[in-house]
Amino acid sequence: MKHSILILGGTAEARKLAEKLVGDPRFATELSLAGRTRAPAEQPVPVRVGGFGGVEGLAAYIREKGISILIDATHPYAAQISRNAAEASRLADVPLIALRRSPWQRQAGDRWTQVGSVGEAVEALGSVPRTVFLTLGRQELLPFEAAPRHHYLIRSVDPVEPPLNIPHAVYLTSRGPFAEADEARLLEEHAIEAIVAKNSGGPSSYGKIAAARTFGIEVILVRRPDLPDVPSVETVEEMLAWLAHAPALPGSPLK
Ligand code: NAP
Repeated sequence: MKHSILILGGTAEARKLAEKLVGDPRFATELSLAGRTRAPAEQPVPVRVGGFGGVEGLAAYIREKGISILIDATHPYAAQISRNAAEASRLADVPLIALRRSPWQRQAGDRWTQVGSVGEAVEALGSVPRTVFLTLGRQELLPFEAAPRHHYLIRSVDPVEPPLNIPHAVYLTSRGPFAEADEARLLEEHAIEAIVAKNSGGPSSYGKIAAARTFGIEVILVRRPDLPDVPSVETVEEMLAWLAHAPALPGSPLK
């Protein structure tokens, strides 16, 4: 008998983990995506897309599919699905383990302003017009319509449609990872004076943080939401080590 793993994904780590598990005879792995991007990255394992219908829906899915291990490898700002995973694992009585990247830590030379919400980030930009690089999700951009005095460079995976109701915005569609040298070039090219970002952690979007340090550019970082207190690891390697000792299933030849 194999373990049936459901990975709640949407992150580079979830994909890397799936790459490591594909073909492993001990596991049958499926990955779940929220369906936020139009053309999601190719995944190495079977994928299902879209919400489950809350906690009950996720718990029902786990039971129906005979999932024996639930892995929460979602983005650190996707707090709702993490809360649902914690509750559904309890309801369906399956072990849950989270894969959570640790946040970036401030280093000497960083000019960080940490705020509690996107609304606070808008306020932190101040009253003097600035040229601002926004690297938030498409769904989080509306609050910037309240500050039309700034010039914005807005980067997202999919186009922002409809565009924001502001006079000065340049849109860029691009998917990470983003190298520091490319980010530095972008910051220079657009004469960026401030960046608004999430503290996503991990290497793939750190380039802008490092480049901002080099140029002394302010980074307004939206703080992470509170996440449920569940067993967790920080890296794909730690997750593989945990899985190697996953509890054997009844009747399983796995020891
Ligand atoms: P969320 O607020 O935690 O989730 C909202 C709902 O979306 C969940 O209740 C669930 O619907 C569905 N959902 C989320 N992740 C799912 C998954 N992996 N598989 C199936 N359904 C999923 O998350 P969000 O709305 O996607 O995003 C919140 C924040 O996370 C934003 O700041 C966003 O930019 C950031 N983020 C998200 C992703 C991502 O892949 N989701 C990637 C990068 C960044 P049901 O209740 O119906 O099950």
